[in-house]
Amino acid sequence: MSGITIALSKGRIFDETLPLLEAAGIVPAENPESSRKLIIGTNQPDVRLVIVRASDTPTYVQYGAADLGIAGKDVLLEHGGEGLYQPLDLEIARCRLSVATREGFDYETASRPGGRIRVATKYIESAKAHFAEKGVHVDLIKLYGSMELAPLVGLADAIVDLVSTGGTLRANGLVEVEHIRDISSRLVVNQASLKLKHERIQPMLDAFAGAIGSKE
Ligand code: ATP
Ligand code: MG
Repeated sequence: MSGITIALSKGRIFDETLPLLEAAGIVPAENPESSRKLIIGTNQPDVRLVIVRASDTPTYVQYGAADLGIAGKDVLLEHGGEGLYQPLDLEIARCRLSVATREGFDYETASRPGGRIRVATKYIESAKAHFAEKGVHVDLIKLYGSMELAPLVGLADAIVDLVSTGGTLRANGLVEVEHIRDISSRLVVNQASLKLKHERIQPMLDAFAGAIGSKE
């Protein structure tokens, strides 16, 4: 395939990527929210989009099934970034990775060096690194969603999850007790594609770079 394949996930990443694509002269032929198609053409005959699960984006790009992709830093930290060039922070889909507990849980004491805590999360790698750095022993429980439930039913003392407004935490009687890091979405590029298709890809990267932060 000599054209360019871009991996995107539906929802906020797709919505917030549209203006960036447009800045590069790329307009999708269909809206993936209403279409069931997983391969979507664009106004550029040599550019297509593939619609993937957010956490699968780095994998498609790593193996060259997509040349480019857009993925949250949360997802990239779990993936590890192998085979990926990450040239741009697109500053979209912004949120933060935080620790949350039930209101009234003594996180301060539990998270002292030498302490021990049971944490449920989808973000095993990030959680492991965070508690290791603090010198806290952590028992990690892998979940795939609805993390907020875990402390409420005694599955875990704490969760590590993405927070934007904090509304979901509040609605479930949880409090954000520690901010781990800010998260936004990055452009990822297959390292071989960048070399072999440099003439086609570099102007796209320049257009994306020029459009960052220009909405709002
Ligand atoms: P699914 O919702 O299908 O389980 P997902 O949670 O990985 O998958 P999205 O909810 O679309 O997919 O999130 C995609 C990316 O958007 C995340 O990887 C993260 O970087 C970012 N994100 C997630 N939640 C928020 C949020 N509340 N506010 C802003 N950005 C977010
Ligand atoms: Mg989600």
